[in-house]
Amino acid sequence: MMTLKDLKIGESAVITRVGGNGALRQHFLDMGIIPGSEVTLIKYAPLGDPAELYVRGYELTLRLDDMAQIDITPTETHVKTAETNKVANKTVHPGLGEGGKFHPKGSGNPLPDDTVLTFALVGNQNSGKTTLFNQLTGSNQHVGNFPGVTVDRKDGVIKGHPNTLVTDLPGIYSMSPYSSEEIVSRNFVMDEKPRGIINIVDATNIERNLYLTMQLLEMDIPMVVALNMMDEVRGNGGTIDINAMESALGVPVVPISAAKNQGIDELIEHAIHVAHFRETPLKHDFCDETDNGGAVHRCRHAIYHLIEDHANTAGIPPHFAASKVIEGDAIVLEQLKLDKNEKETIEHIVLQMETERGLDRSASIADMRYSFIFRICGESVRKPRKSKESVRSEKMDRILTGRWTAIPFFALIMVLISYLTFNLIGGTLQDLLATGIDALTGIVDEALTRGHVNNVLHGLIINGIFTGVGSVLSFLPIIVTLFFFLSLLEDSGYIARVAFFMDKLLRKVGLSGRSIVPMLIGFGCTVPAVMSTRTLPSERDRKMTILLTPFMSCAAKMPIYAFFVDAFFKGHKALIFAGLYALGIVVSILIALLFRGTLFKGEAVPFVMELPNYRMPSAGNVGRLLWEKAKDFLQRAFSVILIATVVIWLLQSFDVRFNLVSDQQDSILAMIAGLLVPIMKPTGLGDWRICTALISGFMAKESVVSTLEVLFENGIQNTLSTATAFAFLVFSLLYTPCVAAIASIRRELGHKWAITVVLWQCFIAWLGAVIVHVISLLF
Ligand code: GDP
Ligand code: MG
Repeated sequence: MMTLKDLKIGESAVITRVGGNGALRQHFLDMGIIPGSEVTLIKYAPLGDPAELYVRGYELTLRLDDMAQIDITPTETHVKTAETNKVANKTVHPGLGEGGKFHPKGSGNPLPDDTVLTFALVGNQNSGKTTLFNQLTGSNQHVGNFPGVTVDRKDGVIKGHPNTLVTDLPGIYSMSPYSSEEIVSRNFVMDEKPRGIINIVDATNIERNLYLTMQLLEMDIPMVVALNMMDEVRGNGGTIDINAMESALGVPVVPISAAKNQGIDELIEHAIHVAHFRETPLKHDFCDETDNGGAVHRCRHAIYHLIEDHANTAGIPPHFAASKVIEGDAIVLEQLKLDKNEKETIEHIVLQMETERGLDRSASIADMRYSFIFRICGESVRKPRKSKESVRSEKMDRILTGRWTAIPFFALIMVLISYLTFNLIGGTLQDLLATGIDALTGIVDEALTRGHVNNVLHGLIINGIFTGVGSVLSFLPIIVTLFFFLSLLEDSGYIARVAFFMDKLLRKVGLSGRSIVPMLIGFGCTVPAVMSTRTLPSERDRKMTILLTPFMSCAAKMPIYAFFVDAFFKGHKALIFAGLYALGIVVSILIALLFRGTLFKGEAVPFVMELPNYRMPSAGNVGRLLWEKAKDFLQRAFSVILIATVVIWLLQSFDVRFNLVSDQQDSILAMIAGLLVPIMKPTGLGDWRICTALISGFMAKESVVSTLEVLFENGIQNTLSTATAFAFLVFSLLYTPCVAAIASIRRELGHKWAITVVLWQCFIAWLGAVIVHVISLLF
């Protein structure tokens, strides 16, 4: 018996059996790895594992261990996708309800005019959801959170239609919950009952994308399909017969290009129309009575009638419930509250179907969906032989995931990004901004002096606010530049490749390649990094990744490093920065190894991931992201950091009786921070001013610098030794994340874990600083 693992590069085979069990196996099936599918092995990752495969018209990754569970028979033929030479028919796309197509004229069942039309935007990852959402809403959006779960939720009003609300859901592949994102999207559609669904489909990868569409149609909610990326399809000489696809699916299908802003108005019109007139999909089931003897068809309908009343009582669309019951979905089975008799009958029917069909229950449902998709694509899609984009991606991948070139190129890209961020672009702009801020400080200082402003107030404004907030503010360009590059990596599809070739290494520390995404984002900011872990399918991987991301030195810590480099290590900026970043990574590896042997025993879950074509990120998306980051940073600078600076300045200027102190040693601040001094003694950081700075870093890391600026009036280099500076840097790198990051950890893992993270990281940081201190004493 041959398994997928025995396949050689370039060879094709047909899958005969998919091993494994549970949610993971379901995930394989959902991704198109089902008996009867043809696969081609494209290449192995540079380290030999995982492999890249071509299946059902797209590329995905699988580990060798998982490939060993999939049986195959080799074939001679080449990969074949749904391809016909049918000339696309030129009839124009019918208008709304034309010819009684979507509702017979005069028999509409409209909602009252003032009802808010809520839409869920649902689609695969990388299908262009963010791009479409931005097109639909313009800037009318706000970010919230999904109740109960941790996912960033984006709502927005459609431009020019004040009575609408679109919610951007996490990208999903199937309505079978696999990762926590998929659960969120499924629950949103089932529980919040949006008035309409806008299903975005990547037309360049249409078979795999329609798999989700099949399941959404079962939800019996008014829906439109937005065929996105039509510019690429047309640019390669492909066409899609929209009318044929519409009649096959029973919902309006609108060809669009989100990136080029084409077809959006028509999409909006159709979406509003179906939602307003409550036009639910015309078809809900896709089993064919002639298909393989019709076993699946009979089984589905028998079960449908059996559970219909239960499903209606439980508020679950019955067609959806029927499919899920056959697949054995535990959540739905629970909600249906079937009695023993009914359960037995169902089991009977399903067993009968399995025997007749020769496939198990999950595989036969997945197969039914894919068969239907292939049938309609065969009738309505004319594909180009190979698109320019996939040829280009292949060429790029020869280098970017090539056996000998992948890792050197990754290193090169990282070095290039740091160079551009810290020196060329960000660095230059920062210097400019700093000069500007200095000049402004000078002008205000002079004005205050000339105006004979009270000394205390003068001190507060110049030494407190201007010095403190100003030193932080000048980091804006660097932070924006860093986010610019991170978003390029993410949007272009490169991060998926990094996950692909780093998987084997990450496995050694007990994680999977997918964990690389949060880690890389963590170099920007821990908050989105922690959020992005929701794409990880296993709780264990998710927890472990969340606990490790704070060790990736975030952008807010840069001002601290830069401040110390300026004072102590002039001329060694690159060395110190690189050293600290590397130290963070090394510590996280050590901790991962520790976790792996103790708290999180076992293996990371299998690594199944789509490798999308490389795409040029749209300028609009990137611009919007940068604007959000800049706004966020400025808000922090003028809220948290400003307040922290003023409070610290006040606390250090007065004693407990609110008299102005002449020696800061007597201030309230010195008293409070003094409590920490004994604990910090072994690290060489037992100075109340340092302790204060570290406490303020709890609010926002940037405040550490503004606090040090306020407290060390004579310049820090005249007060501390170089060894202490080192210990301080190591401590700041490793100690507790800021409040915002802790809050996001709490949302993901609960407050117990959040508190644990704070204490645990302070301990690690303390240990690190002690080691530095002890070593420094030896010299
Ligand atoms: P999401 O993951 O579903 O939110 O997808 P994004 O909106 O981030 O888009 C993924 C990639 O596809 C980005 O690089 C977009 O610039 C690109 N993209 C989105 N829509 C289109 C389109 O209509 N045509 C083309 N050529 N590219 C697009
Ligand atoms: Mg997106």
